[in-house]
Amino acid sequence: MFRAMSTRDEIVDVIVVGGGHAGAEAAAASARMGARTLLVTHRLDTIGEMSCNPAIGGLAKGQLVREVDALDGIMGRAIDRAGIQFRMLNRSKGPAVRGPRAQADRKLYRNAIQTLLAETQNLRIEAASVEDLILDKASNRVSGIRTADGRTFTAGAVIITTGTFLRGLIHIGDQRIPAGRVGDKPSIGLAYTFKRLGFPLGRLKTGTPPRLDGRTIDWSGLESQPADNPPVPFSYLTDKIKVPQIACHMTYTNVRTHEIIQDNLHLSAMYSGQIEGIGPRYCPSVEDKIVRFADKERHQIFLEPEGLDDPTVYPNGISTSLPKSVQLEILKTIPGLEKAVMYRPGYAIEYDFVDPRALKRSLETHAVQGLYLAGQINGTTGYEEAAAQGLMAGINAALAVAGSETPFILDRAEAYIGVMIDDLVTLGTAEPYRMFTSRAEYRLMLRADNADLRLTQRGIDVGIVTDDRARAFGEKKVQIDRLRGLLLSIQESPTELRARGLDINQDGVRRNGIDLLSYPNIHYTTLAGIWPELGSARPDVIEQLEIEATYASYLHRQEADVQALRRDESLILPDDLDYSQIQSLSNEVKDKLTRVRPETIGQAARISGVTPAAITALLAHVKRRDRRLTA
Ligand code: FAD
Repeated sequence: MFRAMSTRDEIVDVIVVGGGHAGAEAAAASARMGARTLLVTHRLDTIGEMSCNPAIGGLAKGQLVREVDALDGIMGRAIDRAGIQFRMLNRSKGPAVRGPRAQADRKLYRNAIQTLLAETQNLRIEAASVEDLILDKASNRVSGIRTADGRTFTAGAVIITTGTFLRGLIHIGDQRIPAGRVGDKPSIGLAYTFKRLGFPLGRLKTGTPPRLDGRTIDWSGLESQPADNPPVPFSYLTDKIKVPQIACHMTYTNVRTHEIIQDNLHLSAMYSGQIEGIGPRYCPSVEDKIVRFADKERHQIFLEPEGLDDPTVYPNGISTSLPKSVQLEILKTIPGLEKAVMYRPGYAIEYDFVDPRALKRSLETHAVQGLYLAGQINGTTGYEEAAAQGLMAGINAALAVAGSETPFILDRAEAYIGVMIDDLVTLGTAEPYRMFTSRAEYRLMLRADNADLRLTQRGIDVGIVTDDRARAFGEKKVQIDRLRGLLLSIQESPTELRARGLDINQDGVRRNGIDLLSYPNIHYTTLAGIWPELGSARPDVIEQLEIEATYASYLHRQEADVQALRRDESLILPDDLDYSQIQSLSNEVKDKLTRVRPETIGQAARISGVTPAAITALLAHVKRRDRRLTA
């Protein structure tokens, strides 16, 4: 799919290392910004590969995908071309906690990402293993990369997105296989580069279940879960999902399954002490579930097909590092899977990550100028978390090489992306970081339905949004504004409204059309039936105004908090602040501030253990020091 590259050394603006979810998005973003971009990755055919479960989105993760899409990223468009079971999670709950999710055809997804990258101008792609970074020691800048076959590439900025590959080590029972994921070699050279450069490194782990031959599963009697009809696309640019939709099925572990796991725990790589890395608490292995939730008699397993023309099934819920023979025994106990053929066993993988407190909010490292990190290398887990970071690193690297001194930052009230990056660079992470709605203070604002209204204009302003999307967004905005205007022009008293059949408190307060939409039993169609001049409107425009009306009073109440947040975020701390010189701070606080190097007073205040008194002392010191604190 990609053009072969010449082997001579090249000079570009931005190099992206790694063609996973962070790398694909970083490369596409940097190129969309106009930077000459080179993506270097081990293999061209695994670009966009889903290392684990074949699905995109979910609660909070779906919001991330919509935000990436609102900034013209590629993940949303790719899953719309590859999704085989779209579901809006939490559909019956409020819009703030709904999350779009789609089961993916693994091959279609990879193809979609590869096609979208091939269509991206300013982007060239090279298959190579990157072994080292080239640094200009005098200026403490990265100036390029060196590949395993001895080539060098020069650039103004380098984005590393090597995922689970840094000193990756697979565990299956007592077997250990150095690998970035099954079938791929690990990245050793770069891991040592980070060590040599003094980056704070840690070790994390994650796991995956066995893969099964769906033709050997007994589907009769298993619970079925159909796709939404009609499927709701991820991308604001997709009108309709054209991929055929399928159902997923469910089965459960049982007491016999749990006994086998208990009896063999000592053989699990995780429980034998062989794995030192820390795993994701909320995405536990089946061994973990049995140990931690010992009173539960069964655990759910979703049987997710990996593709329309691929018999492979992903049994979501039984990720494991038990030996292959035990995995086979376990399968025999599970309804529907008694005779299932296992294509390959589940495994756990350990890998190095960089403590994200080594990063600025732009995802550039504090230590080396021009060096950006994005994705699982920063301690996160998940395709969506990776893609969102890749996008931001791509934008910021391109801005920096173009000479801009202002990075593109999203704050915690603007986007889940902002919440995630702020959490990572401020608090670091002790376990694989995954996005949850509960991490966002302003989740009523950060909904999946309004990501374009929150972010696309910001994207247009920074130059990341292409013309087609800008035009589509502009049209939607015009329609929303027009309809809002019409709704606001309705002004009637409760008596008049009652005469029209609307059951409104007789409190004498006149109400406009938006006020009326905030009532749970009043919809746009109700109003359009009464006031024909409202006319018909696009469903997404109506949905937006209905949700806006529902949340108006809550959002109004949050305004003061958001303003306070933005006030603190606008108080910039100088880069070269020497915290050890601030007498009134405790040594512990000095250490924490030195490690994180917060960029704003708001960020400093979110570091755990940095007290309001310490913030006051910090403000006073900075003001005294050079009056560079900008209000
Ligand atoms: P990756 O997708 O890992 O991509 C890294 C890319 O970098 C690859 O293309 C690789 O070839 C390339 N690369 C690496 N080193 C070099 C080098 N030196 N030179 C050139 N190219 C290089 N996520 C979940 O949310 N839930 C789960 O349950 C889950 N389980 C997982 C289980 C396993 C076994 C694995 C491997 C991953 C799992 N994940 C899970 C994580 C998910 O796969 C990642 O979060 C996501 O893929 C990270 O994206 P990324 O772009 O950061 O890295």
